[in-house]
Amino acid sequence: KDKLAEAERTKRHVFSFEFFPPKTEQGVINLYDRMYNMHDFGPAFIDVTWGAGGSRSQITCEIVHKAQTFFGLETCMHLTCTDMPSSKIDEALEAAHTAGCTNILALRGDPPREEEKWQAVEGGFRYARDLVKYIKQRYGNWFDIGVAGYPEGLEDNQDQDLLMEHLKEKIDAGGTFIVTQMFYDADNFLLWVDKVRAAGINVPIVPGIMPIQTWDSFKRRVGHMNVHVPQKIINGLEPIRNDDAQVQEVGKDLIAEMCQKILDSGKIFALHFYTMNLAKSTRLVLEELGLVPKDGTPSNRALPWRQSLGLN
Ligand code: FAD
Repeated sequence: KDKLAEAERTKRHVFSFEFFPPKTEQGVINLYDRMYNMHDFGPAFIDVTWGAGGSRSQITCEIVHKAQTFFGLETCMHLTCTDMPSSKIDEALEAAHTAGCTNILALRGDPPREEEKWQAVEGGFRYARDLVKYIKQRYGNWFDIGVAGYPEGLEDNQDQDLLMEHLKEKIDAGGTFIVTQMFYDADNFLLWVDKVRAAGINVPIVPGIMPIQTWDSFKRRVGHMNVHVPQKIINGLEPIRNDDAQVQEVGKDLIAEMCQKILDSGKIFALHFYTMNLAKSTRLVLEELGLVPKDGTPSNRALPWRQSLGLN
């Protein structure tokens, strides 16, 4: 929050990276390599997501610990309250606290796939707002608490007025910044920002940016998230859909253009990249925006964290 507030005050643009806990041990090692290299790009912070229902929670906590203590990266741990007894939430918060992590993104969590509607577990939490309150109660000001925002609505709630009311409740409960769901419609996002401000919400807003890797993954994600894709993006990508290298190149231009529009609005000073644990397409967009030097490809240097673990 301090870095976001500082960016707003000094009108300097900052960015953050989101990673998810890989499924395999080798995947975790690869992620650490990537984190180590992406450290050089200078993110304000990195996020580590929380597996639905606490699956792989151990790995999330471990990555947060490593990122904080070994790589010296300011870290934000996601935490959901779906399907989670409060004892598990306590363990996760304590692990983050012990690692020196001072940021939590407090979320409700998605409904488990096999269930149609989300249901609170007994003795658990109902909404993200309740988790925000709980963290505040337990840890005072130790954690900055981020909350999720939805410029294009949420699958189980398309009522924008109601969502805004609930967003405000999360901030009033102690949320200090907002990270948004991914989107590709910058105009709609900027209108939403105006509505957030009109609702009396004044904390920093960090738009979630999903770089384009391939046509198939792009189509899958927009379908899954049900986000609006402006015709210009479709027109740019569809004719080259079978050429991954071209999709990445044109996708980079389109995403950089969208980010530039957002930053040029003067309303937003931070960008949050959903990296999908990959460096290249995020780096290309950052280079295009002039936020990292071009050809800043991390060198294939020795990775000291590996040596310390006896790996090569
Ligand atoms: P809430 O803010 O609690 O809202 C959920 C629903 O309840 C909304 O429809 C809201 O309007 C309604 N509601 C809220 N308060 C009230 C109230 N007082 N009365 C009635 N209705 C109310 N999921 C994961 O599993 N792991 C992750 O790491 C993860 N990271 C995410 C990161 C970002 C930036 C975003 C945007 C989402 C992320 N998610 C993650 C997905 C998220 O868990 C889901 O979108 C979830 O369905 C909603 O979470 P929320 O925190 O926004 O819920």
